[in-house]
Amino acid sequence: MIGMNDFTRQWADVGQDLHAALERTGRRGWYILGEEVRRFEEGLAGLWGLRHAVGLASGLDAIEAGLRALGCAPGDLVLVSPISAFATVLAILRTGATPVFPECDGNGLADLGHCNEILEAQPSIRFFVPVHLYGHALNLDLLDELRRRHGLSIIEDCAQSIGAKWNGRPCGSAGQAAATSFYPTKNLGAWGDGGALLTNDDSIAGFTRCWRDYGQADKYRHAIAGANSRLDELQAAFLHDAGLPRLPGWTRRRARIAAAYRQSITNPAIAVPPPPAGSESVWHLFPVLVPEGMKPSFRRHLERCGVATAEHYPLALFEQPALQPARFLCPGGGQRAATFCRHEISLPVHPYLTSAEVDRVIAACNSWAAA
Ligand SMILES: *Cc1c(COP(=O)(O)O)cnc(C)c1O
Repeated sequence: MIGMNDFTRQWADVGQDLHAALERTGRRGWYILGEEVRRFEEGLAGLWGLRHAVGLASGLDAIEAGLRALGCAPGDLVLVSPISAFATVLAILRTGATPVFPECDGNGLADLGHCNEILEAQPSIRFFVPVHLYGHALNLDLLDELRRRHGLSIIEDCAQSIGAKWNGRPCGSAGQAAATSFYPTKNLGAWGDGGALLTNDDSIAGFTRCWRDYGQADKYRHAIAGANSRLDELQAAFLHDAGLPRLPGWTRRRARIAAAYRQSITNPAIAVPPPPAGSESVWHLFPVLVPEGMKPSFRRHLERCGVATAEHYPLALFEQPALQPARFLCPGGGQRAATFCRHEISLPVHPYLTSAEVDRVIAACNSWAAA
């Protein structure tokens, strides 16, 4: 079976580096907020081209920390992409704020034109969490313009888009801060949970360093009621030694697989949306669109051909049962996002796929008789 990920092959590749990192960390005997986290943060910030990276326990926490650092509080309205991992909206709910959902574009990303209309109509919206979904970069010039015109505080959700660029600019450089995740399936996955907040702003970085450690400003002096949300030394050592050096190669491999799919999946029943104009995508996922009601038939066919598939996501965020009791706004009705979710299926695109497996995925897609 060709899976959505292959951690057995990854282990064969990275295992030695992880053993060495474990040995180094263990010999030092320091497990929380030490040299390994500092070194990984420095490497990550350097790679991203931003001044600060602050290691956290998860991507969810990174979004929450960014929002809190910018003053998001109960009663605030937060514009947020309508299709994403649930963590994106959960971070907003945890601050006590109310999510506001725009429509999506043809790639399933937030429609920035519709975002502008919503912001014109609701000038009280001060926060925006745009998601660079599937590894595609949103238009950063438009994000800049929205931020300036509406005085927005923007946390870019880069959990799926580490390394993605828009017209040469890294995603995460248009907002005040960028959140990312090291969940194992992400493009830069840890061997456990982890996340980071990246920013050029000293005060956002300072707040987040304090917040992740119980709000501790000095030893046993607590400036704010923070959280326990620290990236631990072992994960930082693993990410620094095994993850960071491989990330460029992993990303190139994802891009080559995506190019092969785009060129060779020719079944007219399967729509393969091209990446958004200007986006240098990092292909965290490879979404295709099948006709309404055809998801089960498509997935069954691929499974019979030995190819796993997934849905990202079966529901738009505002359709999630957990969100119904909470207050949220959906000014356009959300029809486009809900429809997109009824058509989307993800194909395997992880960097350990062999060329023969890529060919098998293509053949499986092209042999599907949609009926
Ligand atoms: C994975 C993901 C998150 C959450 O990251 P965790 O580390 O799992 O908390 C947030 N947003 C998006 C878009 C994601 O894909």
